[in-house]
Amino acid sequence: MFEYESSWQKELAKTITDPKVLLTLLDINTEQSEGDFAARQLFPVRVPRPFIAKMEKGNINDPLLKQVMASALEFEEKAGFVADPLAEHESVLPGVLHKYKSRVLLMVKTGCAVNCRYCFRRHFPYQENSLNKQNWPKVITYLQNNPDINEVVLSGGDPLMASDKHLSELIALIETVDHIKRIRFHTRLPVVIPQRITSELTQTLLNSRLKTIMVLHINHANEIDELLAQYLSKWRNHKITLLNQSVLLKGINDSVETLVELSERLFEVGILPYYIHLLDKVAGAAHFYRADEELVSIQQGLLAELPGFLVPKWAREEAGLLSKSPVVLS
Ligand SMILES: *Cc1c(COP(=O)(O)O)cnc(C)c1O
Ligand code: SF4
Repeated sequence: MFEYESSWQKELAKTITDPKVLLTLLDINTEQSEGDFAARQLFPVRVPRPFIAKMEKGNINDPLLKQVMASALEFEEKAGFVADPLAEHESVLPGVLHKYKSRVLLMVKTGCAVNCRYCFRRHFPYQENSLNKQNWPKVITYLQNNPDINEVVLSGGDPLMASDKHLSELIALIETVDHIKRIRFHTRLPVVIPQRITSELTQTLLNSRLKTIMVLHINHANEIDELLAQYLSKWRNHKITLLNQSVLLKGINDSVETLVELSERLFEVGILPYYIHLLDKVAGAAHFYRADEELVSIQQGLLAELPGFLVPKWAREEAGLLSKSPVVLS
């Protein structure tokens, strides 16, 4: 479908931002309302081409397309769905969240390669709250003064929007703190641009004394194609722990069959399911939401059909707790 760029930055520069172009590339001529196109003003459309290549041509209901295509439904207001559902950001320094005892989260970059319509970030895509380089020494001092922290989570936005050089400098600093054992990335970038799995980054991770965990964000089995599988094997061969988190999304992955297929496909390419998050109630994303009562049979179905190690933990984020909240439906 596309002639890919070999460098991820060049591929990123070719990201599709016009929903009309997106539909044309997919040969979709279904009538769209003006509202569908206008919703890009609420949250810009951003879809890298390798992600588009995994969508089915001619299918307006494709589960990957629905995650990224602007929709008139985003204008609907619904009680309880607000701009900032996780209002309690416990920022200890700009770009640093320390909510849970043993791990600290650094917002390395605020931007993402893809804009997912259900994201809680949709109301502040340009908010500059990322960790800038001038603050790195303060972060290291904070880590040194907090011996309970043994893991640093690099997040964002998407931490892999940072260059390999930027990441290797940051990791080198983190390594100087003796009680840090692990470094974890929360990223969707390799899923939408597999070329992001560069040799340089892989080498940096390999050379580090820190154990690396990559938590990817994949919601549907169709997101894992041959190109992604090939690039992921670079990390697998180096024994980087690969985990996945998904968001439960109405009309996209809200069935036992779809989630079983996702877990099976993840395992085939060397990734274990970690979390499935219930949707944050963010304004503009109510059409992706399903109430707990409607999800009971899905949770039970997964337990019945999958080995325990392929069942993701169901969780939701709540303010002021010691961990993410486990969700057990009955
Ligand atoms: C989710 C999250 C973590 C990681 O939590 P785990 O349960 O270990 O995956 C750490 N810090 C913050 C602020 C988080 O939101
Ligand atoms: S990649 Fe993650 S942070 Fe970025 S828009 Fe998608 S869900 Fe939000």
